[in-house]
Amino acid sequence: MTAQLIDGVALSKTIRTEVAERAAALTAAGRRPGLAVILVGDDPASAVYVRNKVKACDECGFHSVLERYDATLAEATLLQRIAALNADPAIHGILVQMPVPRHIDPHKVIEAIATAKDVDGFSVHSAGALMTGLPGLRPATPFGCMKLIESTGIGLKGRHAVVIGRSNTVGKPMALLLLQAHATVTVCHSGTPDLGAHTRLADVVVVAVGRRNTLTADMVKPGAVIIDVGTNRNDEGKLCGDVDFAAVRAALGPGGHITPVPGGVGPMTITMLLVNTLQAAEALA
Ligand code: NAP
Repeated sequence: MTAQLIDGVALSKTIRTEVAERAAALTAAGRRPGLAVILVGDDPASAVYVRNKVKACDECGFHSVLERYDATLAEATLLQRIAALNADPAIHGILVQMPVPRHIDPHKVIEAIATAKDVDGFSVHSAGALMTGLPGLRPATPFGCMKLIESTGIGLKGRHAVVIGRSNTVGKPMALLLLQAHATVTVCHSGTPDLGAHTRLADVVVVAVGRRNTLTADMVKPGAVIIDVGTNRNDEGKLCGDVDFAAVRAALGPGGHITPVPGGVGPMTITMLLVNTLQAAEALA
């Protein structure tokens, strides 16, 4: 018997149904939630991400605006557009798709977004709110990972969670959310000499590295929960995560839980962006 799958598609669907209901209620009250997505440049992967975000908004009854700009867009012009969206009452969430071209400072862009509309949760204010336990908008990917863990029914209090990766967008906020849920948290990174020594003790492992087979069957404890954030391509060019999926699933045994790639964290990231936009709209209403 292998570990149970954590189905991010099904969980997304359930959450999006609730989001659409709450959005309809706000719309009926004359306050339709609105998200503005800005894409600078023509990176094909980014174009797919923003299209999917706008499509998800449409499906949930949100107002959405997609602004696409040439890669030569001046930083000052982008900052002016953000200022205009900050002042636009029809827009409750603003997202600038990263990465931006090299001549634009991503930190300036993130900090230009009004805190109340920072639905990516990447600003220093949002990060500080998470660190200090204040309410605020949480980065969508780790927020989605928390929902996936919750869906297993395994409480985090007193559990040992290991996060592999320490990026500002995934690893660090993930560790803080797990801490907030009373897990004992270890954060590993490229300077960690023996990942397995940590992960073998873990009840929950979140892998956010961007390298295939970072987590292998000999590195997990039977019965653990494994959340695979990574997105990579295998030798056949198919999407895969950071976890050696089939072997790890078998090693976890029937008491374990694991997210697939695709169909795990990916759909939840967009869903939690919708949740954040709705929350921003409800707060501003
Ligand atoms: P990132 O900024 O490149 O960070 C990667 C992290 O992994 C870094 O902290 C790095 O450590 C660590 N790392 C690299 N090699 C390692 C190794 N051999 N052992 C242990 N740790 C190692 O990436 P990210 O933005 O956090 O994203 C991580 C992955 O998640 C990527 O594949 C990305 O595409 C995917 N992702 C997916 C979604 C989704 O919705 N499915 C959303 C966001 C990201 P150092 O800090 O020491 O360099």
